[in-house]
Amino acid sequence: MARHRLARQRVKGALVDVVDRVDLDRKKAVTAVVAAGALIGAGFTQAMATVTPMDRIVPVAATKDLAAAMTAQPEKGPQTVRALYTVSETRKLIQAEQIQAQFNVKEAIRVAEGAFVQRQEAAQAEAARVAAEQEAERARVAAEEEARRPQCVKPAEGTFTSGFGARWGTSHNGVDIANAIGTPIVAAMEGTVIEAGPASGFGLWVRVQHADGTVTVYGHMNTIDVAQGAHVKAGQQIATIGNRGQSTGPHLHFEVWLGGSQKVNPVGWLAERGVSL
Ligand SMILES: [Zn+2]
Repeated sequence: MARHRLARQRVKGALVDVVDRVDLDRKKAVTAVVAAGALIGAGFTQAMATVTPMDRIVPVAATKDLAAAMTAQPEKGPQTVRALYTVSETRKLIQAEQIQAQFNVKEAIRVAEGAFVQRQEAAQAEAARVAAEQEAERARVAAEEEARRPQCVKPAEGTFTSGFGARWGTSHNGVDIANAIGTPIVAAMEGTVIEAGPASGFGLWVRVQHADGTVTVYGHMNTIDVAQGAHVKAGQQIATIGNRGQSTGPHLHFEVWLGGSQKVNPVGWLAERGVSL
């Protein structure tokens, strides 16, 4: 099997020896491709394994040389791979490999980008779901707190010092709860502040109208903490205990006006609503 090197040339960076094979059946000139470096790659060996047309390409120790090249020790220096291909065949193989490699790279990038976008979208959807869950939980807690909020409360903490009715030859139209100046006064029930300011005999007063038309009245306060027109909830601070007006010491004077005019005993009115003074 005499072979004569006819030429040495570079094909796509690989060193290629073009030799004459005189003993081929078809007497066709073929080349022995001596590939180094770039050609010793998985793609090239795979192409050889899958593409090799046996009738045109004679596998002269290709497998052996390839295996040697693939397992070569580094200190032995550059190895050569000897196989039989025509030059045009080799170019086609290399080009096909390059095209396939480029396609694979693009495909890998495309898939990776798609996966990235999918992860982003999934993360955004998860964040939105968590936010909605937190909002729902916040609303649920708020609703629970609202449900627990008492409908009616004691207007001020302190000592019950005077009841409703005749007192000192006159009529006492409310109850007195004594405590230190500055003690919070709260709205007994939810309602709207219809008056907040000076009033004869009361010094200062706040009147709150409730849903059923009942008005609660708070007098003698030191400070007023709400404005006329404000909506207040049961237990919300509206003023502080004072000693203004006709008062015999710091206390809250508290009245209940049914329908906005009929003054009734606050003790009974509060008791009907579960509050004792
Ligand atoms: Zn009083």
